[in-house]
Amino acid sequence: MRLSRFPLPTLKEDPSDAVVASHKLMIRAGLIRKESAGMYVYLPMGFRVLHKIIAIIREEMNRAGAVEFLMPELTNAELWKESGRWNTMGPEMIRIKDRNGLEYALAPTHEEAFTAIARNIISSYRDLPLNAYQINTKFRDEIRPRFGVIRSKEFIMKDAYSFDLDEEGLEKSYQSMRVAYRNIFKRMGLETIPVEADTGAMGGSQSEEFMVPSAIGEEVLLLCDQCGYRANQEKADFKRTYPPQEPIAELKEVDTPNIKTIEELVSFFNCSASKFLKSIIYIADGVPVMAVISGDREINEHKLKKAIGATSIELAPNSIVEEVTNAPVGFAGPINNFGIRTIFDMSVRHISNGITGANKKDVHYIGVNPGRDFTISEEADIALAVEGDGCPKCETPMKATRGIEVGHIFKLGYKYSKSMNLTVLDKNGKTVHPIMGCYGIGVNRTMATIIEQHHDERGIIWPIPVAPFHVWVIGLGRSTEEICKADEIYEMIKSANIEVIYDDRHLSPGFKFGDADMVGCPIRVTIGKTYFKDGSIEIRMRKGGDIMMCTNEELIEKLNKIIATEFAQYNV
Ligand code: ATP
Ligand code: MG
Repeated sequence: MRLSRFPLPTLKEDPSDAVVASHKLMIRAGLIRKESAGMYVYLPMGFRVLHKIIAIIREEMNRAGAVEFLMPELTNAELWKESGRWNTMGPEMIRIKDRNGLEYALAPTHEEAFTAIARNIISSYRDLPLNAYQINTKFRDEIRPRFGVIRSKEFIMKDAYSFDLDEEGLEKSYQSMRVAYRNIFKRMGLETIPVEADTGAMGGSQSEEFMVPSAIGEEVLLLCDQCGYRANQEKADFKRTYPPQEPIAELKEVDTPNIKTIEELVSFFNCSASKFLKSIIYIADGVPVMAVISGDREINEHKLKKAIGATSIELAPNSIVEEVTNAPVGFAGPINNFGIRTIFDMSVRHISNGITGANKKDVHYIGVNPGRDFTISEEADIALAVEGDGCPKCETPMKATRGIEVGHIFKLGYKYSKSMNLTVLDKNGKTVHPIMGCYGIGVNRTMATIIEQHHDERGIIWPIPVAPFHVWVIGLGRSTEEICKADEIYEMIKSANIEVIYDDRHLSPGFKFGDADMVGCPIRVTIGKTYFKDGSIEIRMRKGGDIMMCTNEELIEKLNKIIATEFAQYNV
């Protein structure tokens, strides 16, 4: 490939709307261009990387025994109605109608579609296990598309769905995907941390996310260096410690004019935040509920949502808080709380002589004791784990770090096979529902996170398995004779079946070197002054900057050797 025939619109300046390194570099290196908010065009250089990533994913999925499908991206509303998700998917799912008024979703995910096709093509235990995958576009009307292709409205996902006869089979399928994912990311030079993840309120028993540690990550991870416990904060457990029980005091009302927040209360009562029964009103699937937790902790809304069994929860607006507690915001509590459904965190039971809002303006209770003053009607772990909390397994204080989720594996269970009535006949001729798992990788997001992990101030530094080209030849000759000599070297490399791009443009050396560094192919070959003078060719490694000189007789062998050594680092 000659760069004179290859559109590579590199930029000197960062685009104004880009805040993270990968987004800036993908635009500046001429890999992508923005089409509109959350939608991107892949230019030829970027598309080559995407293809390499896809090829690695495909190889490892096939190696794990999964089989490739291609599903329509317009999915019939009927399928979503069968599973019950037509009503629960919310505004992220883009819905459209055809000319006859039939409704469709632009698929944000394909559980329904794969369950439906499985219903059509499998009928017996002999057809199982089946692990069906595709590499295809997904559409999600994200509230805040951002960070370039890390969170976009349209993106490519590898999604796989496993069907097994029983839990043991599912465990095998799940473990084989775990291994495949490790291999996939290792082969791309991506360091990932698998963490325990939330399975959501919709069922599912086990789930892991593959996280790339990064300061720009939207996920918070809690890690134990001692025993290796790793969890998304949404899911993380922690070792509880409770204050000692005090002799029970009398329940009393105290005037607290305009004292509302935990900080204000702490200074007003001059006691620790853990004395307070923090009571927060949420709207869960349209109905107000109260969540109560020790004042020194925050509520984990994912855990709360699951404990309630709701599909959506949000903080109640002030008007609703006033309506259900009969008081302004800041005075809610579990005593005489008008029968509103209340979920208590496990911390509440251990508070003695606590303080809480009295559901009256400017009044709090002191001497509050669970059991005597209110009943713990529903108890659950709804607390957010934070850095420094003890590991749930070994009690060592955990560390928090940020991560980008690139992949997700999930034991779904029977949700879709039951709701959509997917059945097979087992060995005894009995009709049974297969048990399912699902496994996703965000292809574009993966590409961006590789750049997040592999770049410097001059540009991208591609790990060779995903580099757009292995070798980047720069010709610096000006005379016809010099240009001919560089052309010959390029032709020689090309005929040796090495993936090569040749910068034959009429541009200054500085510009050509800048582009080579910006795009970041692993090996740069320069045909310049030294070659025209004494026949020595410069080979320079993008990573580390090592320089080697060789003759044109040695070149191919040398390049093949370097390429093999580079690839060997990413072997699985
Ligand atoms: P997130 O929490 O980041 O929104 P998700 O839990 O919605 O992700 P899944 O439904 O598990 O994601 O999708 C599988 C993979 O698809 C994710 O691990 C991620 O790599 C990718 N992905 C999800 N949403 C987007 C998006 N808007 N843009 C690009 N990639 C995405
Ligand atoms: Mg999402």
